[in-house]
Amino acid sequence: MSIEQIAPEYIRSISPYVPGKPIAELAREMGLDEAQIIKLASNENPLGMSPKARHAMHAVLDDLARYPDGNGFALKETLSRKHGLGVGHFVLGNGSNDVLELAVRAFLPAGSSAVYSQYSFAVYPLATQSVGGRGIEVPARAYAHDLAAMADAVAEDTHIVFLANPNNPTGSFIPAWLLESFLEQIRRDVIVILDEAYSEYLPPELRYDSMAWVKRFPNLIVTRTFSKIYGLAGLRIGYAVADAKVAELINRVRSPFNANSVALAAAEAALGDEAFIQKSYETNRAGLAQITRGLGELNLVHLPSAGNFVTFRVGDGAGVNRRLLKQGVIVRPIASYGMPEWLRVTIGQTEENARFLEALAIALKG
Ligand SMILES: *Cc1c(COP(=O)(O)O)cnc(C)c1O
Repeated sequence: MSIEQIAPEYIRSISPYVPGKPIAELAREMGLDEAQIIKLASNENPLGMSPKARHAMHAVLDDLARYPDGNGFALKETLSRKHGLGVGHFVLGNGSNDVLELAVRAFLPAGSSAVYSQYSFAVYPLATQSVGGRGIEVPARAYAHDLAAMADAVAEDTHIVFLANPNNPTGSFIPAWLLESFLEQIRRDVIVILDEAYSEYLPPELRYDSMAWVKRFPNLIVTRTFSKIYGLAGLRIGYAVADAKVAELINRVRSPFNANSVALAAAEAALGDEAFIQKSYETNRAGLAQITRGLGELNLVHLPSAGNFVTFRVGDGAGVNRRLLKQGVIVRPIASYGMPEWLRVTIGQTEENARFLEALAIALKG
């Protein structure tokens, strides 16, 4: 027997998550100066983090010999005020990725099934497989969730449905009325995880109140993150909002200190920095217009995006990506999502977007 056979087959057959290439790695590989490289690969905030978050982080450094508050009381109080729901409705995690996995651990017994869309976030199949669950991938419609087909795909043994709104990597958006009728339609003994990692980037006309749905649908779990508009991806902090009984079950499988002290302090401060959030939102709207205009000028098709990234078709995704990397521009190839002809670019600051478009024009020439 070989050593890996100790692990169950469902673990051995997992294909690992492919992250965006780190700047330092590309610098090493290409002999480039890190300062020349622009990374538009992981949907990070190009403005960095909120100055208020930075200040709050410095203030907790003297206390790092102590364990964090395992209940995250202060952050949950702030979230509770923001969302108008009691602290018992919240679960904190080491990034929302952690919260997604915890929800799966709590609600998806081995052998049961989880439903998610084709071209949706890679973590859903990964988390499903890691507990021995069966993934039911529902074909997308025009690169977006097909909610009718997803409702039909729910099987007797289905415990979880995953929805990302907006979706990554396609940027597609499910309007509120469709989501609401989906929630009304789905069996109450099926958990619906609504992943809202990009909700702060939605323009006002697309926004909706998922917190009101948490009160109405006890089987709904909404997840949010501090990795995107709040600019704290490296710190790893996110949360879930759900019925208090659901939150309590997820909290049981959480490791006691999964949200660290620095992250707790920074997240709390970041929530209160409205000026930074507004500026990040506006930078994204302007950059999204700049990039989609530029892609159009290059005669490239792109998918309409409600997030802080755009997915566009180049034909030879691997080749164009290689030629972008040579020029010090990191975007995200999405062949692992079954979209080898497409690339995903994160919206950067004006200068970065311009450099990306120039490099792309060169890369397309082959
Ligand atoms: C980026 C992203 C997340 C957030 O991941 P974190 O673990 O919070 O950094 C969650 N869901 C989707 C769809 C994402 O794109």
